Amino acid sequence: MTRAVIALGANLGDRGSTLRAAATAIVALPGVGPIASSHEVESVAVTLDGPDPTKPRYRNAVVVVDTDLEPDELLDALHGIEDEHGRTRATRWGDRTLDLDVIALDDRRIDTVTLTVPHPHAHERAFVLAPWADADPAAVLPGHGPVAALLADLGDDTERVDEPRLFDQQAAAPTADRAGAAS
Ligand code: ATP
Ligand code: CA
Ligand code: CA
Repeated sequence: MTRAVIALGANLGDRGSTLRAAATAIVALPGVGPIASSHEVESVAVTLDGPDPTKPRYRNAVVVVDTDLEPDELLDALHGIEDEHGRTRATRWGDRTLDLDVIALDDRRIDTVTLTVPHPHAHERAFVLAPWADADPAAVLPGHGPVAALLADLGDDTERVDEPRLFDQQAAAPTADRAGAAS
């Protein structure tokens, strides 16, 4: 069983509904079960040229799940959910209805043509770190350290959206829970 951290993002369409539907679809995948989820955050769109306030703003969130899917199976399933929400890939870092990125898979390191884990930009993105720390305050980004400390160093330029978490939080803290389960 692998503890997977998945980042969700959208800046086109009904972003909140899309993130919620995507989180539901992720935990409904065969071999995937819910552990924790964040609230939504909002922030300025970032393109290849940098932050662009003229673009529709992003909503982002994070879900933590347990899965017995292989990494490439999980990525394929996430691409399927993106497709169901009309994701297109015209421009790199262009506007999108839904983006689902694998941020971490336990402390595994993966570097293939189709999948790099941990996600190479996670440590420099407040829109990933803030919701991740919200979902799991004790989270650690392999190779970089505690997520809350990374966020404090980077500065949090995201705004919390006044909506519930994407799904109901489990009773136990995800990371402490995990450490306890391993002993
Ligand atoms: P970024 O990866 O910088 O966030 P992006 O999400 O806009 O950019 P996409 O166009 O969604 O990039 O994805 C391009 C390809 O990245 C995917 O087809 C996938 O094979 C690959 N990829 C590599 N590592 C990951 C990962 N950890 N999570 C999701 N996709 C990944
Ligand atoms: Ca992305
Ligand atoms: Ca992506």
